[in-house]
Amino acid sequence: MEFTIRNIGAYFVSYLLILSGKVRKINNKASNSEIILSVYFHNPTRKLFESTVKWFIKNKYKFISVEDLNEILKSEIEFPKSTVVFTVDDGWKDNKINIVSIANKYKVPVTIFATTDPIEKEEGFWWSYISKGKSIGLIKKTVNELKIVPNSFRIKNLLQVKSTIKIDREALTIEELKEISSHNNIIIGSHTISHPILTKCSTRLVEYELKESKNILEKWINKPIKSFAYPNGEFKEREIEILKRNGYEIAFSTKQKYLTTDNRNQRFSIPRFDVLENVSFTENICRMTGVWFYRK
Ligand SMILES: [Zn+2]
Repeated sequence: MEFTIRNIGAYFVSYLLILSGKVRKINNKASNSEIILSVYFHNPTRKLFESTVKWFIKNKYKFISVEDLNEILKSEIEFPKSTVVFTVDDGWKDNKINIVSIANKYKVPVTIFATTDPIEKEEGFWWSYISKGKSIGLIKKTVNELKIVPNSFRIKNLLQVKSTIKIDREALTIEELKEISSHNNIIIGSHTISHPILTKCSTRLVEYELKESKNILEKWINKPIKSFAYPNGEFKEREIEILKRNGYEIAFSTKQKYLTTDNRNQRFSIPRFDVLENVSFTENICRMTGVWFYRK
């Protein structure tokens, strides 16, 4: 954890939340089949990922895969007791040693949503170019500012930076992705080709990003791709329709809400709680159980 004022404050808030019994209450709800916890990561350390797995094991949770979740949501059956589903966004190169090895050790099913361009082109993710470009004065806009403008404007800035600086590969290689996908407990899903903010793209581009990423991944790993995670969690009705039309069966948002028996029919906007890489583990306990997001 980074020892910032924010993190230390959040540590104490989280400590009190746990002490007050809020986390225990959620564990009880999960054991009563009222909720399924849905947790996601990006690029955690091995220690963080293993601690998270161990915490759920200690609290008597069972891990289910995205495919299991899909079947549970599709059917009318009751939620299984004390259940959690793990997903990972982007396809960071360190996922192989930090996530896959731990997932194998504890037999934890994990779905990794891969972005194909950074894998295929052996380059950085777009936001890495933008933040570097901004820091050395090549462009004026920040990453967050470029997430809310039309996609063509983001691309213009990105190309401007890419013409000057180089960033080493940040994602897995094709070979690594193939190897990872051969493990029984690892499922690969799509996270588009270039990780654009879909709601800022033309319909034609959204079609391409969703359809082609599925085709590319299926060709690489020789398995059907059925699941999807929206880049930055951004989507509207249009994105859901295009996913359905292209054979996807389930999609994950970044809405920090509980997956309950009430919203179980929304299979194309599954909520998820994030585990952060630079905060205390105490805060992450509150985040992955959702207590952090419902504290007010
Ligand atoms: Zn992402």
